[in-house]
Amino acid sequence: MKFNTKVIHAGIEPDPTTGAIMTPIYQTSTYVQASPGDHKGYEYARTQNPTRSVLEKNLAALENGADGICFGSGLAAMDAILKMLKSGDEVISTNDLYGGSYRLIKKIFEPFGLKSKFIDMTRIEELEKAISADTKLIWIETPTNPLLSIVDIKAVCDVARARGILTCVDNTFASPYLQTPLDLGADMVLHSATKYLGGHSDLVLGAVVAKTQELADKLHFVQNASGGVCGPMDSFLVLRGIKTLHLRVQRACDNARKIAAFLEDHPKVGRVLHPGLKSHPHHELAARQMKDFGAMVSFDLKDDSIAKANTVLSGTHLFSLAESLGGVESLIGHPSSMTHASIPREDRIKNGLTDSLIRLSVGVEDVDDLIADLAAALDKV
Ligand SMILES: *Cc1c(COP(=O)(O)O)cnc(C)c1O
Repeated sequence: MKFNTKVIHAGIEPDPTTGAIMTPIYQTSTYVQASPGDHKGYEYARTQNPTRSVLEKNLAALENGADGICFGSGLAAMDAILKMLKSGDEVISTNDLYGGSYRLIKKIFEPFGLKSKFIDMTRIEELEKAISADTKLIWIETPTNPLLSIVDIKAVCDVARARGILTCVDNTFASPYLQTPLDLGADMVLHSATKYLGGHSDLVLGAVVAKTQELADKLHFVQNASGGVCGPMDSFLVLRGIKTLHLRVQRACDNARKIAAFLEDHPKVGRVLHPGLKSHPHHELAARQMKDFGAMVSFDLKDDSIAKANTVLSGTHLFSLAESLGGVESLIGHPSSMTHASIPREDRIKNGLTDSLIRLSVGVEDVDDLIADLAAALDKV
């Protein structure tokens, strides 16, 4: 089955009792047994829920993995992965990691003895230098946030596999429509389904897809033991969102490409960061690794000031000023005062995260309206 068919059909059967074509929302906490232990495969809803199971099968098919495990949020999914490690183990990750992922490693797991390193993973020699005997997990995020750097998934996974180290790719920014990391050698893929998979900014949910059943079974065990499950209603909404994933992400990519070109030509704009631009340092790698270049665009102003950035941020009407991404509606954000405010300014600037850096999550509106909205806001600068 090809991807555009899988989003609608993979793992999804009409309801056996009624023929309902849409997966029912099984809003139940427990399941009746005929006699002790004689049940239909469902005992208690922390352990299994039929709506959640359908979503897990569908996601496993989209990411070409053995099995999926769905959680209450993207961070709950990451939490379960980190709980497969033990005190003294080390995780290596990228230095412009999603802020919440960084916080989970540093503030929650470090006090339990987990060690961590954050490196520039676009340079494979840095990764090879960083690996120690304790390294048990390499955490990849690509494209990165908000600078939209591209990490070579296959190259990193080759290095990891040769040393018996597990790999997980946070595939939230790309979605499985644009890249399937398990095909490039990763052991696990993580999603904040809150973003592109859900696609309508109306839920919070996370997922892991594992390449092998053995790894998936370990994650199911952690999930049942720790309890970070998602509810049936949210599982249903993600299943519904996924049915249009290919249409939404393709349109958003097409819009982002045009917006990036518009910004690159604008006299008040400084750098434009979008993997689809020839000027992007990892453009060739992105073209090889991804089906298209994604719908995130970051840019800063020639006159790099927070005040000027604020003029743009509060000057748009269609682009709403908000955190998050991946919905049908376009969003605009200011990483240095919003998502990345906890990083000291000096470190931010050193990593290329300038004061005026603005991040766009491009939606599926008419691109002419989106460009006019940005043009009007930039005129006020
Ligand atoms: C939002 C996000 C997360 C966290 O997901 P939640 O669903 O908000 O818990 C993790 N990684 C990336 C790249 C994200 O954008």
